[in-house]
Amino acid sequence: MTYQNYSLKQLQQIDAAHHLHPFTDHKELREAGSRIITHANGPFIYDADGTEILDGMAGLWCVNVGYGRDELAEAAYAQMKELPYYNSFFKCSTPTPVLLSKKLAELAPKGVAQVFYGSSGSEANDTALRLVRHFWALEGKPEKNRIISRKMGYHGSTIAGTSLGGMDLMHKQLGGAVPNIVHVMMPYAYELALPGESDHDFGLRAAKAVEDAILEAGADKVAAFIGEPVMGAGGVKIPPMSYWPEVQCICRKYDVLLMLDEVITGYGRTGEWFAAQTFGIEPDTITTAKALTSGYQPLSALLVGDRIAATLVEKGGEFYHGYTYSGHPVACAVALKNLEIMEREGLVDRVKNDTGPYFAQALQERIAGHDLVGEVRSIGLMGAIEIVKDKVTKERFLPAGSAAVTVRDHAIAQGLMLRATGDTMILSPPLIWTRETIDMACARIAKALDLAQADLR
Ligand code: PLP
Repeated sequence: MTYQNYSLKQLQQIDAAHHLHPFTDHKELREAGSRIITHANGPFIYDADGTEILDGMAGLWCVNVGYGRDELAEAAYAQMKELPYYNSFFKCSTPTPVLLSKKLAELAPKGVAQVFYGSSGSEANDTALRLVRHFWALEGKPEKNRIISRKMGYHGSTIAGTSLGGMDLMHKQLGGAVPNIVHVMMPYAYELALPGESDHDFGLRAAKAVEDAILEAGADKVAAFIGEPVMGAGGVKIPPMSYWPEVQCICRKYDVLLMLDEVITGYGRTGEWFAAQTFGIEPDTITTAKALTSGYQPLSALLVGDRIAATLVEKGGEFYHGYTYSGHPVACAVALKNLEIMEREGLVDRVKNDTGPYFAQALQERIAGHDLVGEVRSIGLMGAIEIVKDKVTKERFLPAGSAAVTVRDHAIAQGLMLRATGDTMILSPPLIWTRETIDMACARIAKALDLAQADLR
């Protein structure tokens, strides 16, 4: 590898001079210098100094089978030699997207059996938005085009993704969102439940906000509701179990399509292949990406339900939409191998029956009691730790978000990569984590919390 001819300092200087990073304050980056990760193996990443860090985020919620999988590299190599690229436009196809589509149709919830490929979650949501509006136009209802989403939802950072998402700071930089998208309350009990309100009742109330938005516009004006089954980037906000079935019921009552964004939750994260199965719902579209290839190749798959697919086929004519890399043969070969590994190693069952429950218990028993922690929550192998100044009143440290950054920096120094979003610490590790890895992570979090407490008091 040519980078070995450069010192860490040189790499950082070149990075600062020429590389614009995603979601980054570039002035700060130039001052601090980037952390350059050079290699990885199993659950660990290594920086250019050789420091070993346990990766509590699976890269960016994606490396579900862990690092260093030769089989995935070999699948990519073999496919590149045989056919590195051909497109799926103009009635062409290549074998790997064909076989991957069959596999995804087998794994997906009932009634969802067609796939449209892209290279990123943002692209897949762009496709989803266009597709549902196109669907209603084909049904003779072009005015049924409003989309209901949630505040703090994250659906990517293209113009469509940002518009669908409910992140104020992103909207402020947008200079004009895609029209006719509205945002309702998120199902986040820790901050939004009323005193004495049960989790169940809060879930129903949060779902009612969807119904209110439908009634306000008129059902004949609303195309779809979109949401992440568990809000990820917004802070691993896990809805009460009453929420999704009620949302589904409301969508069906008013003939509004249900779109799930499973870019994070898809492929095992919640202990089922899809979180739709965890929450017992049958959506019309499911956006997936990330763990489809465990991040070894960029690939997204929009899974499309029978109703939309039938209209598209029967009434659609040509759908003027697609990407050069839709169904990329190499990315699809890697996805097939990745899903094979997950099945062979029983990773999804392991999350459901072993590591997921152990992770929940470990967070409760070893982290929840800390003075800085207002709440811990998890589902499968995704979890959150709320950092507070006062456990009882839930008062936060000021400025907002600063305390979580302090904890995060200590965690990284302790050898655990996790993420801070607002005042929430997030964990979303590779699904290969074992009970021992969870123990190691909890010990490092506890230490980071102690060190942060000393800084913050
Ligand atoms: N949707 C959700 C729920 C996500 O978490 C993300 C990325 O984190 C996206 C969409 C966008 O995916 P990408 O960054 O691949 O465009």
